[in-house]
Amino acid sequence: MELPFSDPDAPPALPEGMFLRPGVVDFLGQQRLQAALETVLRAVPPARIRTKGGGLTAAAMTNCGVVGWWGDAKGYRYISASPQTGLPWPPIPDEFIKLIQGVTSESPWPDFAPDACLINAYAAGAKMGLHQDRDEKDFSQPIITVSLGDAADFLIGGFARGDKTQALKLRSGDVLLMGGASRMRFHGVRKIYPGTSPLDEISGRYSLTFRKAL
Ligand code: MN
Repeated sequence: MELPFSDPDAPPALPEGMFLRPGVVDFLGQQRLQAALETVLRAVPPARIRTKGGGLTAAAMTNCGVVGWWGDAKGYRYISASPQTGLPWPPIPDEFIKLIQGVTSESPWPDFAPDACLINAYAAGAKMGLHQDRDEKDFSQPIITVSLGDAADFLIGGFARGDKTQALKLRSGDVLLMGGASRMRFHGVRKIYPGTSPLDEISGRYSLTFRKAL
């Protein structure tokens, strides 16, 4: 499927249901996102969460939205309050919502209305193993990832963990949509490129991943 916004020069070709909007957030826009992100991070600082294997995630995580994704001894799920503060997660900032509305208006998901935004903080050296996002109720809704800070190699896999992967470089200001036929693809983060953040305020990489969880 070819959409009007797809960039023919954006390497590599992406599988059906995945769309990259490279640089859709300009530098000033990234600064505004960073300021909004800062308010969330102050309210609920990111923390590494427990994995099923008993270790800790390399990336630190926090959330904004009606619910937030979390993992602990009870498993992975969406919950309405931060375990760190005991308070509801902060709302998704208007600045984030405006961006998502702009991006989805010309996508296959014009009515996408996220109720959760999982924020992953990757320091230099942090990775995210291949996984599927499968704790949401409606898999017809996409996952939309906004990158801020250092560039990263995002891995796109198949529908089994051992399937071949392709790497996609994500830079600050890029937005990746993953839905439709690609909604259940395994994916992960292979590498962070330290020192590539265009934003002085950010070292490392933040991914803002928007979901319709409920
Ligand atoms: Mn994921």
